[in-house]
Amino acid sequence: GGATARPTATTNIVIQLDELDEILSGGGEEITLRLTNGAEISGAQLVEKRLAECGLATLVHPYEGAVNLYRTSRHASEKQRLMAGAENPTCPWAECNYPADKCQIHHLQAWKHGGETNMANLSVACPYHNGVNDDDPHAPPVRGRLERRQGRIVWVPPWTNSS
Ligand SMILES: [Zn+2]
Repeated sequence: GGATARPTATTNIVIQLDELDEILSGGGEEITLRLTNGAEISGAQLVEKRLAECGLATLVHPYEGAVNLYRTSRHASEKQRLMAGAENPTCPWAECNYPADKCQIHHLQAWKHGGETNMANLSVACPYHNGVNDDDPHAPPVRGRLERRQGRIVWVPPWTNSS
């Protein structure tokens, strides 16, 4: 295509390393895997479909977060978007199920406050919650904010103390 062609959205399937061990040993029936388009399949179904038909597979370390992305785009920003979606297949705001493929990339520490465009500082967020997130941690809290705590993205409600 032309130089301006954008990459098409690719659904990413998320596999925790401990789940992968169990799937590969034949115990995939009990495991539910989440896809970034909002769908869910069992580990056994994944084996039946074969990895190649599922698009991308991202291995996620249970403590360190996303560590490896296979068949990635050359462009780092696209890789980060895919990895952020793999880490959180839906918007991590409480009780929001907006699929990651349609989410925006959110800086946990806002760019204008010095936040870096590194995986540790990035999360998916749906357009609505990206918009209402309390970006200034020193301003009076209104709607709460997304933060990374112990490696995971969590919504910190406005009635709790921010870190
Ligand atoms: Zn949301």
